[in-house]
Amino acid sequence: MKTAVIGYPRIGSKRELKFAIEKYLKGQIEQSELITKAKALRKINWLDQDNQKIDFISSNDFSFYDNVLDTAYLLNIIPKRYQSLDLDPLDKYFAMARGYQGKAGDVKALAMKKWFNTNYHYLVPEVEDDVQIELNGTKIFDEYQEAKDLNINTKPVIIGPYTLIKLLRFTGTLTIQDIVDDVIRVYVEIITKFNDLNAQWFEFDEPALVLDMDEADIGLFKNIYTKILKEKGAIKVLLQTYFGDIRDCYNDIMALDFDGIGLDFIEGKETLNLIKKYGFDQNKILFAGIVNGKNIWKNDYQKTIILLEEINENVNDIVISTSCSLLHVPYSLENEEKLDEKYKRHLAFAKEKLVELFQLKIISKLGTKHSYYVDNANIFNEAANRSNASVQARLASLKESDFIRQPLFDQRREIQKEKLKLPLLPTTTIGSFPQTSEVRANRRAYRKGEIDETTYCNFNHTMIQKWIKYQEEIGLDVLVHGEFERNDMVEYFGENLDGYLFTENGWVQSYGTRCVKPPVIWGDISRNHPLTVDYAVYSQSLTDKPVKGMLTGPVTMLNWSFPRVDISLKEVALQLALAIKDEVLDLEAKGIKIIQIDEAALREKLPLRKSDWQSEYLDWAIPAYRLVSSSVQADTQIHSHMCYSEFDDIIQAIEDMDSDVISFEASRSNLTLLDTLNKVKFKSEVGPGVYDIHSPRIPSVEEFETALKAMIEKIPVDKLWVNPDCGLKTRGVFETQSSLENMVTATKNIRLKLQQIKK
Ligand code: GLN
Ligand code: ZN
Repeated sequence: MKTAVIGYPRIGSKRELKFAIEKYLKGQIEQSELITKAKALRKINWLDQDNQKIDFISSNDFSFYDNVLDTAYLLNIIPKRYQSLDLDPLDKYFAMARGYQGKAGDVKALAMKKWFNTNYHYLVPEVEDDVQIELNGTKIFDEYQEAKDLNINTKPVIIGPYTLIKLLRFTGTLTIQDIVDDVIRVYVEIITKFNDLNAQWFEFDEPALVLDMDEADIGLFKNIYTKILKEKGAIKVLLQTYFGDIRDCYNDIMALDFDGIGLDFIEGKETLNLIKKYGFDQNKILFAGIVNGKNIWKNDYQKTIILLEEINENVNDIVISTSCSLLHVPYSLENEEKLDEKYKRHLAFAKEKLVELFQLKIISKLGTKHSYYVDNANIFNEAANRSNASVQARLASLKESDFIRQPLFDQRREIQKEKLKLPLLPTTTIGSFPQTSEVRANRRAYRKGEIDETTYCNFNHTMIQKWIKYQEEIGLDVLVHGEFERNDMVEYFGENLDGYLFTENGWVQSYGTRCVKPPVIWGDISRNHPLTVDYAVYSQSLTDKPVKGMLTGPVTMLNWSFPRVDISLKEVALQLALAIKDEVLDLEAKGIKIIQIDEAALREKLPLRKSDWQSEYLDWAIPAYRLVSSSVQADTQIHSHMCYSEFDDIIQAIEDMDSDVISFEASRSNLTLLDTLNKVKFKSEVGPGVYDIHSPRIPSVEEFETALKAMIEKIPVDKLWVNPDCGLKTRGVFETQSSLENMVTATKNIRLKLQQIKK
């Protein structure tokens, strides 16, 4: 049995790529230095894999920002607004990713969306009517050659044409049918070039095949690959799927002339059954995804070997592989010096997963007497102490009424209006303010024990004072404390709850240069002390305006952590909900009138197939949220924030959250959602983000007014809030303040206009 890896983390073991790109974008280093750095990182990645004798190593899994953007760029799917910028190719590329404001012009970034059921985000390519789809750039060939120069013969990997097409956004009149042949032509051209370069394998990643597919989708897929495979020449083609099973197209795929098919045995619930039921074409190689590319737990060899034996009954030629790209796990446990060995022995990050692939290969050859197998079995056979009796008792005693807020929405709304006395179109922000270098240095110094708690808190208090004063001065209506004590909205809570483990360097790329460090849920979760109350109370003491208490919701805590796998996700979510509920009640008791419970990632882990949404997810996720928020008084206003704006298909679930106010991301997408809200008579008040915080550009007052007017046309004005589309922690102070000032000015202008109309 051989081994394969779909993709490897590219951000660097200590986020070197992130820092290099950020420096480059600030003009602190030359482009050549960035390129050298990237090259060095690719080398490390390839050598890591080569050291573990991985037989199929990918190239082109590297990206300066995002693989989907790379693919669109390679096909020259580049909107005119970027084409026309007088910038060099890499800068144009970054302009698509992040927007651009400078000498060459002023353009917004492409929209960003979650990548399937992960916390990775891709850029949504836009197809304009005059798009010229053709091969553009040489990245994929250069990186292949670069590996070859290191004596590593890679399989170049690319997002496949079917998935790419499914992710495209058509901004004009063109449809899929108008471009599909051009797309095919470019992919054929790429394969032909790789034939010329004597590459042995080429990999198409087609995760979109694990989604629900209808006849038209299957037809499109067959059409594309029938044409491509006819031209494949001597190169062997691997069709790689991940994040689920391919129940809708299994036989169609099998009938096509692929040389290898990559299937996910971890998230693909039906994968094994499909093979058993329909067999596997013995002229093809199965790339079996059996090492989990998403979680950080050690592979249980006892289970994996049984699985491999079962697969082997139906398949001759098996390559063992990761279930998806290792992009979704941190780089290596080698960087974890503080984590106790008793935990570490249960974990495997990307580099350790390479070792697992290697060991499984050896075991499959030499049998289960091998020490690799025995040592692994010992770890899994030892009892790990993960449960907490009082948490268990609390869960067992939950009643239906714990999940229902009283009084009902309309009644509370009146009570809250009376109490809060906010103006029309209340302005607010989503919670965090810029995490400047001083803010981070303060946290770092405290963490390292270089300063005591008082010094640490005093600094945070000074920041809070400064920003509360600023918010009052510019006229925001609902203030926030700024989250200076938080490294990350999930990790901060994780570090303060029992049951969590956290890492020093367990970074995972979220988008572009942004990484998150998901904490690890090890045991039953409980809260032993208030987490946010002191800063909230301090902030409220500085102002008469309401300051929002700021919490992370249970579903987001779960979705942005590495969850345990020995109990159900539902159980973990309810444990988290109980812990956060205690915090909500403490805030309320201390006089905090508005509490925001961020469910940034609620949508993210929706099962990829609609048929599973309710039963496998929403049936416990929404109740978990309600458990947190249902016990407050009528006059406490509960806000929720979400980092996306695709609600159309889960609008009922969002409504069932029973929040008083919901803010969400809307600025990079169009406003059709607002029509949906209108149509279903959505009850909660809403704050559709009026500007994009993922980009450094500063919208003008006019731009804000236009955006607000568009919103008012769609949403009853007395239900509308005005806010950025997410927290401001990643932005600089100048751009944050300029944007907020423009936002407030525009809101005031609109209020005035509305008053005049009324008169
Ligand atoms: N309150 C958080 C912040 O402002 C929300 C972040 C998020 O939604 N990702 O940073
Ligand atoms: Zn957000």
